[in-house]
Formats: sequence, C-alpha cells, structure tokens
Amino acid sequence: MPTQPELKRPQVVTRFAPSPTGHLHIGGARTALFCWAYSRAEAARQGTPPAFVLRIEDTDQARSSESAAKGMCEDLAWLGITWDEGPRHERTGDAGDHQVIGGDPRHVGPFFQAQRLHLYNKYIMQLVEQEKAFPAFEKAEELDAKRREATSRKQTYHYDNTAALAIPLVERLHRMKPVSEGGKGEPHVVRLRVTGEPITVQDQVLGEVSYAAGEVDDFVLRKADGFPTYHFAVVIDDETMGVTHVLRAQEHLNNTPKHVALQQALGFASPIYAHMPIICNMDGSKMSKRDKAKTARAAAKTAIQKDPAISPGAIAQETGLDPAALADFLAQNNDSIEIAEALGRRFGVTLPEVEVEDFRAAGYLPEAITNFIALLGWSPGGDIEKFDTAFIAERFDVHRIGKTSAKFDRMKLLSFNTDAITTMAPAEFNRRFHQWARDYAPPLAAVFPDSAAPRWEMLCRAVQPRCKTFKDAADQTAFLLVADDQVTFDPKAVEKVLKKIDPATGSGAALLAGVVSVIEGVVEFKPETIHAAIEAFAATKNLNIGKIAQPLRVALTGSTVSPPIDATLALLGKASSLARIHRCLQTA
Ligand code: GLU
Repeated sequence: MPTQPELKRPQVVTRFAPSPTGHLHIGGARTALFCWAYSRAEAARQGTPPAFVLRIEDTDQARSSESAAKGMCEDLAWLGITWDEGPRHERTGDAGDHQVIGGDPRHVGPFFQAQRLHLYNKYIMQLVEQEKAFPAFEKAEELDAKRREATSRKQTYHYDNTAALAIPLVERLHRMKPVSEGGKGEPHVVRLRVTGEPITVQDQVLGEVSYAAGEVDDFVLRKADGFPTYHFAVVIDDETMGVTHVLRAQEHLNNTPKHVALQQALGFASPIYAHMPIICNMDGSKMSKRDKAKTARAAAKTAIQKDPAISPGAIAQETGLDPAALADFLAQNNDSIEIAEALGRRFGVTLPEVEVEDFRAAGYLPEAITNFIALLGWSPGGDIEKFDTAFIAERFDVHRIGKTSAKFDRMKLLSFNTDAITTMAPAEFNRRFHQWARDYAPPLAAVFPDSAAPRWEMLCRAVQPRCKTFKDAADQTAFLLVADDQVTFDPKAVEKVLKKIDPATGSGAALLAGVVSVIEGVVEFKPETIHAAIEAFAATKNLNIGKIAQPLRVALTGSTVSPPIDATLALLGKASSLARIHRCLQTA
C-alpha cells in the first residue's frame, strides 16, 4: 500500500494558502497563526531561519480579486502574523512604525498562482507524455448528463476513462496542441490517470486515514480555460516551494488522497500533513459566513410574524433591496451578505462576527484574537490560557493539536478582549483607540482630531476602565456627537429619574434645577473641580452624589448610562452641559 515517503529536509517550511475570494475568515486566521507559529518554533529548535510562505491561490479567476488578496494581507499583518516569503506588503502600524512584509529569499516565487501557469503547464505536459495524465475531450454537458443519470440511479458518479484512453498518445498531443503551434487546439481538460490503489494519508493530528481503491477517480488537473485546478496547483506549489508541513483545516482532509495520488505520479515526496479541527458555534453547528445570514433571517422572520405592518415587500421598499432576492434570502435560497447586513441594520441586530475584518470593526484587539484563536484546537499544556504571539511561536507543536472540534466561545473572546483593553497602559489606549476611531468611527475622530489633546485623554480616562471593545468605548461617548438641541430623552428614564417623586428627596427634575447654579459656578471646568462642586451640593442636601448624577445623566445624554458624571460634564464643556440641562428641564 503506497504511503508518503519519509521527509528529509533540513528546514521546516509552512505555508498559508488562501483563495482571495472575500475577507479572511477567522478560521483562516487560525490556520495562518498555527503555520506561522510552527515555522518559528521549528526554526528555533533547528537553528534555521523561519520560513512561513504566504501563497495566494487565485486560480479561480471569476471569484478571485486583487483587492481581496490585499485585504487578506492587511488582516494578517494586523494580527501580527507576518510571512517570511510571499507578496510584498507595506504596513504602517498605529504607532507610525513602518514594516515591509514578504519577499522571496529562496527564489520560489511568484506567490500568486495565476502567475505560475508556465510551471503548471510544464508538469502537465510531463504527466501527459508519461501517460500518467491524459486530455479528455468530452463536453461538459455530456458529463453532466452522465452525472445526473448516476444520481437518478442513486449511484456515485465515476468518470469513465475508456474513450479518452483509447486515443493514442500522438493523437492526444496533436488534438491538445494549439492551432498556432500546428495542432488541432481542441477544447479539453487534463485528468490524472489514477492507478486505483488504496491511499493512506499519514496525518499528524488524525493518525492514518485510509481511502479504499477507487475512492479517488481520474480528477481534473487543468481546466478547459487553461488554469490548473486547486488540487494540481497546490501539489506543484507545495513541492516547488519546498513546503515541508501542510497545516490546514479539516475541511481539506478529503482532498488529501488526491494530492497524495498526484505526488506519487509526479515522484514528489509528500509533505507532512496536519489537519486542524473544525471550528463550531456553541450550539455545535459549523461556524461559517452563513451564520450572518441565519441571524438576519431569524430577526426578519420574527419581526414579520409579530407585526402585521412588516412584510417582505415593505422591508424591500424600506431597505432598497431587490424584492425577489429578498424573498429568496428569506426562503433560504441565498445567503447574501449584503442582504444580511441590510436586514441587520433595519432590525437593529448585530450580526455575528466571522471574518477578521468584522472583529476589527467591532473593536477587538489583535492580541486578544490571536490568544483566543490559538486555543481553538491547541493548548500549550497546563492551565495557561493567557499568552502573546511570542509565546505561541515558542511553544507551538503540531502534536498538541486536538482532534475534536473546537468551540468558538464568544463570551470568552470578549472577556480576553476586556482584560487586554482595561489593563493596557493609558497612553497606548489613547493612541490605539484613536487609530481605531479614525478607521471605524470617523465622526468621533472628527470631533477629537488629536490623540494627544487633553480632551481626548480625558475621554479615554473615562471609558477605558469600563469598556469591552473599542466599539463599546465609542458607543459610550456617542452623546458627544449629538448637537445640544438634538438629544432625545428616553421616556422611561425621564419617568423614572426625573418625574418620579422620592418622598425623601423630591423629584429628580427639582434636583437638576438645583444643580444648575452649582455647575455655573465651577470656574475651572474639569472632572476634579466638577466632582468637588457636585459633592458639596449633594452634602448640603444630605445626599449621595449618585442621586444628583442620574438626573444630570439623563439631561446630558438622554439616557441613564454614561461615563462618570464629572467626566461627562467636563467632556461636554460648561456651555453644552448647561444648554442640555435647560432644554431637558423645559422639554422632557
Ligand atoms: N486555497 C485553499 C483555501 O483557501 C487552501 C488550500 C490548502 O491549504 O491546501 O481553502
């Protein structure tokens, strides 16, 4: 039974090979992190330079884009997962630091598969001439009909190579050859002639995984458009880039026998494989981009059921969505992200973060994310749960990757993030929160253009101890972006905090009216002086400062939640504060 030969290469080379068809999925980030960490851990063990390759698998021309590839580079760089070899990427960090990532020190590039066609074609011709692969001239419709027929007979479809193999080699070559080179230039695909022996994959995580004879059929290596299939390109590239270890998601396990069959046909040594456990939601379903659609669909359906005024037609009209596409979405016939996002906005639901960009926009820190995703299927042993990427790079070992699926516990990630944010040095928080605001909350950054200004520092001091994410911090300061005459007072808060009469202290509105002159009297309008003045006012009434703070909060922000009251007042400034209080007393 053929198995993969022993690997004898001095330097460990790992690679992350995303298809640039969208944003980087959080599962992809875990794969990249493990590959990155393993290359570093092994380089240190062996005294060799680390070699982690980033390869862009853009052979699906219709679905790939350069901007998606760039976005993936950006996401990886943001997470601190830097590649030693691969596309060059320039990054300016939030501290103004400049970094150039990538390059080609071993001369194994280019790193975009679409730029490697000559290499794939060379190997294709070698296999065809050796009769280990063959051109197949059947039309796609012919094969589709056969596939449908097999399905209707409840049989697994297998490609029948009889006709293709009956063509003599010389004729095959002539029919394949372009007309410009004197051939017939017939449309065709190239298929591997699979020997039909059983194949065993030696997996570092799952052990031996065996595939019976006949499970792999004569699969396509080169498509009719002249581009290699994923299977072919991946095998050629892993070999020609000297990749020694392929760490990838378990979803790829069933592709691996194909790759092994191909390596055997080409006389390549197989790399060492390690397939990582699937990442699941807490309910056990596989975590996927579709989760966004699921959440949005559920929100829309609940709203439609509850409120007769809400119908799919009305939603389409309000959101500008195409009614037919929306109907399809609601019937689970498509999982469009655009529709999911539009419905999320319409019904005020937060869609679950799935891509790195989602977590970034939601104000998560890269160090919290890498710490958290490192634990999805790996552990350093002992009870150690909090660590940085340097620790992962030092300790990472393929043998500590688990077999069972990993649960994506969002509460745990949030708690990692909260810890990282609240324990950050204040100067760093000021800088990083400002950078985040520039990228994801431009109105906030516009009101506070300078991260070194005392007002921004004051804002940061107020929110840092009580926020879970940067977005959370921004939400807590949203009252600063509203014009004084646009504050909307939450009716419930008005009722409870301002109108209700407390037998001992009277109404909140009366206290609010009483505190006006106190605020007017504060000369240097900063948190300490404001605090002292309100405290003194509260003391004259034998009250705790909180009793004064709540009515003030409602007047200043419209709600009962805000940063500490002294900071809230100081951030607004005296004039705005007084304007809001007067307006509240008159209108609320
Ligand atoms: N391009 C493949 C993907 O994005 C990865 C292939 C591999 O790791 O072998 O899923």
